[in-house]
Amino acid sequence: MSDSREYAGIDYFRIIAALLVVAIHISPLININETADFILTRIVGRVAVPFFFMVSGFFLFSDWEKSEKRLKNFLKKTVFLYGISIIIYIPVNIYTGYFKMDNLFINILKDVFIEGTMYHLWYLPASIFGAVVAWNLIRKMGHKDALSFAVFLYLIGLFGDSYFGLIKDIPLLSNLYGLIFQVSDYTRNGLFFAPIFFILGSIIRNSNVNYTKINNFVALLISLSLMLIEGLTLHSLEFQRHDSMYIMLVPTMFFLFRSLILYRGKRVPTLGTGTMVVYIIHPMMIIFVRLMGKILKLEWLLVENNIIHYIMVTLLSTMVAILAVWWEIGRNPRGGNGPHKDYTHKNLDNKRDRAWIEVNLDNLKHNVTVLQQIMPRDCHLMAVVKADAYGHGGERISSYLNKIGIKSFAVATIDEGIALRKKGVVGDILILGYTDLGRTQELWKYKLIQTIVSYDYGRELSELGYDLKVHIKIDTGMHRMGIDHRNVEKIAQIFKLENLEIRGIYTHLAVSDSRRTEDMEFTEKQIGSFYELLKDLKERGVRIPKTHIQSSYGLLNYPEIRCDYARIGMALYGVLSENSHKPRLNPDIRPVLSLKSKLRLIRDIKTGESLGYGRAFIANKNTRIGIVPIGYGDGVPRNLSCGRGSVLINGCEVPIVGRICMDQLMIDITDIPEAKVGDTIVLIGTSRNREILATDFAANGETISNEILCRLGSRLNKIYV
Ligand SMILES: *Cc1c(COP(=O)(O)O)cnc(C)c1O
Repeated sequence: MSDSREYAGIDYFRIIAALLVVAIHISPLININETADFILTRIVGRVAVPFFFMVSGFFLFSDWEKSEKRLKNFLKKTVFLYGISIIIYIPVNIYTGYFKMDNLFINILKDVFIEGTMYHLWYLPASIFGAVVAWNLIRKMGHKDALSFAVFLYLIGLFGDSYFGLIKDIPLLSNLYGLIFQVSDYTRNGLFFAPIFFILGSIIRNSNVNYTKINNFVALLISLSLMLIEGLTLHSLEFQRHDSMYIMLVPTMFFLFRSLILYRGKRVPTLGTGTMVVYIIHPMMIIFVRLMGKILKLEWLLVENNIIHYIMVTLLSTMVAILAVWWEIGRNPRGGNGPHKDYTHKNLDNKRDRAWIEVNLDNLKHNVTVLQQIMPRDCHLMAVVKADAYGHGGERISSYLNKIGIKSFAVATIDEGIALRKKGVVGDILILGYTDLGRTQELWKYKLIQTIVSYDYGRELSELGYDLKVHIKIDTGMHRMGIDHRNVEKIAQIFKLENLEIRGIYTHLAVSDSRRTEDMEFTEKQIGSFYELLKDLKERGVRIPKTHIQSSYGLLNYPEIRCDYARIGMALYGVLSENSHKPRLNPDIRPVLSLKSKLRLIRDIKTGESLGYGRAFIANKNTRIGIVPIGYGDGVPRNLSCGRGSVLINGCEVPIVGRICMDQLMIDITDIPEAKVGDTIVLIGTSRNREILATDFAANGETISNEILCRLGSRLNKIYV
């Protein structure tokens, strides 16, 4: 599964992009047909550099919390690469008389910071500048506004580039652009050109719009055709001061990139380094081929025939790239190290070394959408993120939900609430449980909403004098926490307590998961009692605050209830509690969490030999055993020992044999001859087209999936994909 999620399409397109860049600097078709060459190098070829920017944006900003660290890494590496590139081109600079120009110092500054000290090196400072601009825009304004702003910058750039003809006779504008050109020879730079592509890369990474290959491809073809028309028109009108920026380049890149990420497979990180080397080195090879032509008196062939020239330069640059990759692998066997390296990929692999949880944020977003669709129109989703968001990682899940527009959360304890606030989670955070009065100041400080679990508790809280927001919990039959719904008088008094701002009133259903007649009658009675109470309160002149009743099953089985919130936990994470539950509504919710490990060792045991503690497994035939480094210390119930549980390997289900240990378990892989050390083992989740649901896992362990999920061990790595 991990292979199929990797972006091989991006890696392979790097080759095409590098070939296009070399073509731009050689014009291979110029002797054959000028228009064809213009189309290849000045229009189609213009996708290459934006593509590289988008790759960077795509990987750098994929995981927002880590993006700052990644950005720093990226900048460090790009600066380093740029430094090396400047140095290796100094001899060429000397040869071309660079150091003899007027205003040398100012020009060096300009070139180092903006233009690049060789014509193609502009890409590196633009990359550095573009990444910083894009990152800051996204951080300050969010994706949508950042994109608008970058479009604005791009528009400014357009009129200094392909659309210069439109403004050059307007005195005010042409003066303005004259100023820009004093600082930067072109508008195709890190400010006007690069940011939009970094941001688009990030937007594509962070969105989960479903689109099909074919639609996307058609959109790409249309955009590209329009770009051809645009380019040829501007060219024939002689509008172009330079020919890097087109209006249609932006949609073309968007659809091109989305097409590429649909091609999944094993990544080839060395292509990142290889193509970067081709990019940096090819002008050197151009000079080298020219020199060779001169020396061998073969200029007519090697230089004047542009196609041969192009092929020679490409071959030589590729050879240097292969040498560089080879050297790098020797130095660092983990693979490429270029500035386009996929940092995520490396992180993932470090975290996938033993046993881990994979959290699919796209599925979380999908679940939010489908659950909101079945909720009444004015009802809001209160995301229940207690117990570390049911083992999914409370802080990450809540920040992500915040990002996609969820503004209400429920936690069980004050510490869970404080942790979210410290991570920057905004909106309402309701504590469902009791908070010790000694911590009232923290409730106030972190703007947490406390549940009033009894009249006395409410009164004591009020007397402490902090201005607090609270919800009142009503007991309608659960008999756990809350004030009995029949105590209308007491409940009405709570509304009169000082310092407390009553923002909500709620109850909790005890058997909303059941479709048995008597359970449904009980639930209807609970709901009826709650509304009865609201009516009584209203009659006493109480203004009714926000109301909520349903949890996941409450929503799925009683969707007609009209409240201000539904407190959703399990369903948000795409799971039910038990397989036998068949709720009235059955929306397409998808599991967010997978639990995985790796096949660590394979051993053959002979008939009669035993396995593990207690010799609980004795082979009745020659048996091939796989050792998997995950155990009850990670939350795998020991109940799953001795064939009661199973795991997936390469799409096949195999039994757990012997007793589960604290840190390891054993599986019988006799029937899977192709299994090898390092294969992924799925305990919860899918492998090829087989799936083990959390409910299956729970049922075999004689519990419910809620318990399984929130008991997953803290030493498991969490990976957000
Ligand atoms: C845990 C909890 C929920 C969420 O329940 P799910 O079944 O996971 O949706 C809702 N309300 C209260 C009071 C809870 O304790």
